[in-house]
Amino acid sequence: MKKYQIALIPGDGIGKEVIPECAEVLKALEKRYTKISFDFQEFDWGGDYYRKHGVMMPNDGLNDLKNKDAILFGSAGDPEIADHITLWGLRLKICQGFDQYANVRPTRILPGIQTPLRKCEPHQLDWVIVRENSEGEYSGVGGRAHQGLPIEVATDMSILTRVGVERVQRFAFKLAQSRPRKHLTVITKSNAQRHGMVMWDEIAVQIAKEFPDVTWDKELVDAATARMINRPESIDTVVATNLHGDILTDLAAALAGSLGIAPTGNIDPERRYPSMFEPIHGSAFDIMGKGLANPIGTFWSAVMMLEHLGEQDAAKKLMGAIETVTSNSALHTRDLGGIAMMKDVTKAVIQEIQK
Ligand code: NAD
Ligand code: MN
Repeated sequence: MKKYQIALIPGDGIGKEVIPECAEVLKALEKRYTKISFDFQEFDWGGDYYRKHGVMMPNDGLNDLKNKDAILFGSAGDPEIADHITLWGLRLKICQGFDQYANVRPTRILPGIQTPLRKCEPHQLDWVIVRENSEGEYSGVGGRAHQGLPIEVATDMSILTRVGVERVQRFAFKLAQSRPRKHLTVITKSNAQRHGMVMWDEIAVQIAKEFPDVTWDKELVDAATARMINRPESIDTVVATNLHGDILTDLAAALAGSLGIAPTGNIDPERRYPSMFEPIHGSAFDIMGKGLANPIGTFWSAVMMLEHLGEQDAAKKLMGAIETVTSNSALHTRDLGGIAMMKDVTKAVIQEIQK
């Protein structure tokens, strides 16, 4: 019997709705696979915690998480609190504190889901985008001076280190090697950003030599957006810096049908710390508290968590259940053009698991 210690951090907005649904789904898997069990500990961190304590999570909160096997996260973002406070105070504090340097985002068009792409068969879009998750444009280095004066100045410095670039590119090449196509696209912008991105390109040439069986190409980030739309089948695995990856993965999610479906893992490949799994969407203020949220992105994130824990059978079972449910348009939530409620989707996924 393997007992996994899982931290649940619902956070804010629809995060507080989808995470409990996901815990129910995992409980159903536990009943079915008697060799696995989950020990959940929930943390009430986020906007409400901030209103009470002035911080999004306790300063020593990472101590409570560091011995967990994995973290399931909902969303950070509150209508009354500035976004940079909610993001840096919770999600980034965990990602950076646990050096989860690879943000992994698979994108596929699930059965029954319509892509906005006119010329794309579902099998032609099967990507995994690896976003650098610890430095680059979001390193947090910069500052403001002379605030409010006409001479005000503000900077956000993008920092790329050789160690940081080598490790994320090596992770991406390895991931590409494990996939049938064995192809990696390295996203760059070295024509305009002539220091850090040039080093990024040079390191790609160097790391590629370690993976002679992986083919690779290089694409400027702006051209990459057009390629994702016009030639989706030419892409397989992708690696990009923090900002570039952030934007490309939202585009990928939209091309796969909805932001409500897309999952992600913030991975520490060396497994020194727990990795964190979350839907890519945010708090969705416009639909929170209404039971309309699509929980599929969270369930798919749980599939990634199970794979990371080495529970391949349970992961396959859950992914199969998700795909059976998406194939049925009566079970589509509003973001997919349907009328189903979040709870209908959860119930159907649990029924599939029990079959
Ligand atoms: P959002 O993802 O919250 O919402 C964008 C749109 O997509 C909205 O119309 C929303 O209703 C819809 N949507 C998102 N997820 C959905 C789901 N599961 N089911 C159905 N519809 C869904 O993005 P936003 O509006 O830019 O951000 C709102 C807040 O969330 C902000 O505070 C932002 O900082 C935060 N945010 C947090 C994260 C995170 O914690 N990882 C990610 C993105 C945004
Ligand atoms: Mn984003």
